[in-house]
Amino acid sequence: MTQRHVIIIGAGAGGLSASIDLARAGVRVTLLERAATPGGKMHTREVDDLSVDGGPTVLTMRSVFEQLFEDAGTSLSDSLTLLDSPVIARHAWSDGGLLDLFPDRERSRHSIEQFAGSDNAAGFDRLYTQSEKIHRALSSTFMEATKPSPLTLVGRVLREHPLSSLLATRPSPDLWRALGGFFSDERLQQLFGRYATYVGSSPLSTPATLMLIAHVELDGVWLVDGGMHRLARTMADLGQQLGVDLHLNTHVSEVLVKNRKAVGVRLDDGTALTADAVVFNGDTQAIATGQLGESASSAVTLRPNRQRALSAFTWCIKGQASGFDLDHHNVFFESNYPSEFNTIFETRQVPSKPTVYVCAQDRGPAGNRNKAERFLMLVNAPANGDNRTWSTDEVNHIRDNALAVLDRCGLTLSFRDEECVATTPTDWHSRFPGSGGSLYGSASHGLWSSFTRSGARSRLKGLYLSGGSVHPGPGVPMATLSGRLAARTLLSDII
Ligand SMILES: Cc1cc2nc3c(=O)[nH]c(=O)nc-3n(C[C@H](O)[C@H](O)[C@H](O)COP(=O)(O)OP(=O)(O)OC[C@H]3O[C@@H](n4cnc5c(N)ncnc54)[C@H](O)[C@@H]3O)c2cc1C
Repeated sequence: MTQRHVIIIGAGAGGLSASIDLARAGVRVTLLERAATPGGKMHTREVDDLSVDGGPTVLTMRSVFEQLFEDAGTSLSDSLTLLDSPVIARHAWSDGGLLDLFPDRERSRHSIEQFAGSDNAAGFDRLYTQSEKIHRALSSTFMEATKPSPLTLVGRVLREHPLSSLLATRPSPDLWRALGGFFSDERLQQLFGRYATYVGSSPLSTPATLMLIAHVELDGVWLVDGGMHRLARTMADLGQQLGVDLHLNTHVSEVLVKNRKAVGVRLDDGTALTADAVVFNGDTQAIATGQLGESASSAVTLRPNRQRALSAFTWCIKGQASGFDLDHHNVFFESNYPSEFNTIFETRQVPSKPTVYVCAQDRGPAGNRNKAERFLMLVNAPANGDNRTWSTDEVNHIRDNALAVLDRCGLTLSFRDEECVATTPTDWHSRFPGSGGSLYGSASHGLWSSFTRSGARSRLKGLYLSGGSVHPGPGVPMATLSGRLAARTLLSDII
């Protein structure tokens, strides 16, 4: 049989995992990436003489990556060192309070008891038990299924779990109110409600099932020695060892369609490449808005812009910290969480008193703190990067508001302006076409939103989808799973 040829557009987590699985199955794989490096959102920014991780920093679900490498006949630990993170994150509030969460249920419970008393610690126990049940029920029935529907989900859960675990997946009320049932201390509602932002959503609108993220994090958080972008590099290296033909700085402008089937791609410079099938790893909305050609545009559903998930302002910084004992992951909260999410999703503005995430990349188990440290500072923002630009003054104003929150929590970050590199929703939009700056596809708002994401098979024969905007959703492990699902689906269709 002649060797099949598949073109993958995009070398993000989902494109890389698809390329590995297809190549090891004997398919000829051409991987086309418009950026100068593989990894997509897993990227670094150069700040003076330092490389600062500018994308994901929290690595969970380690087994997803181990399995990918093991299935390819190798071991992740041969190429990459993952370090256990003893602290999940350090949390501080501007009106008082400091709480560390650990990937150890008893330690976290104790920490919460010290912080907010025994009733809230008991609430944590109930939350942990509930989130574990949800995770168990959904991991095989939802995340690893090619394109689950509510009906297949119910059917499978009923087959595999007792009715009680099905009830545990009851998707209402929203996460915020569900957490209010566990905690009388609103700070804990904020802390666990923030998990909604991991999928770019508001805790006020996501279904309570999202509390499963609490279980995923308590199960373990890892740091990649050398930074998260190393994970992308390692995946790209494995693909290349298996024969993947990776082309960087290569923008695909069209999916070629013949007889209602994807038959190849056209590059920016006009070159046409043919293939038996195509996998797209960018935001599905790039297809829907015609950026991959008119003929392919109906392959996915066009979504209203208001359904987009969160964007962000980020700053990669070389600087110094004082006044606060930073851990690797740090979250600084102001008091009014509901108002923050209403501002972003309803008013579509950047909150003036935002929750601020700071990744102190030189702290933690393999911390190597020099005089100048690397920081990633992030605040959430609406995904309106395609119809809004920000002047330097506006960006600095947003940055100063974030620094003021840190200041109220006791942390002073100092740096020189030229050693602070900002990324705005407009920048994210131009890096990730079709996204509007959304970093997580569409928001997981409402009961059924998770079921409305595209699956691995698009509506166009021969065109497959992977990445954070398709099932099972955003986050590095989930996007990696999506690539594996795309490869599996494609192989079952063409072989
Ligand atoms: C600041 C930030 C913080 C985050 N924090 C976390 C975290 O802590 N933990 C976590 O798990 N996740 C986090 N995420 C989310 C996570 O990074 C993403 O969900 C995941 O990396 C997305 O992978 P993907 O497969 O969708 O590919 P993407 O990373 O979206 O990459 C898609 C690739 O396709 C390429 N491409 C698109 N169109 C074309 C074209 N026409 N031609 C050629 N190439 C094209 C793009 O250049 C890009 O490289 C974060 C994201 C950001 C930005």
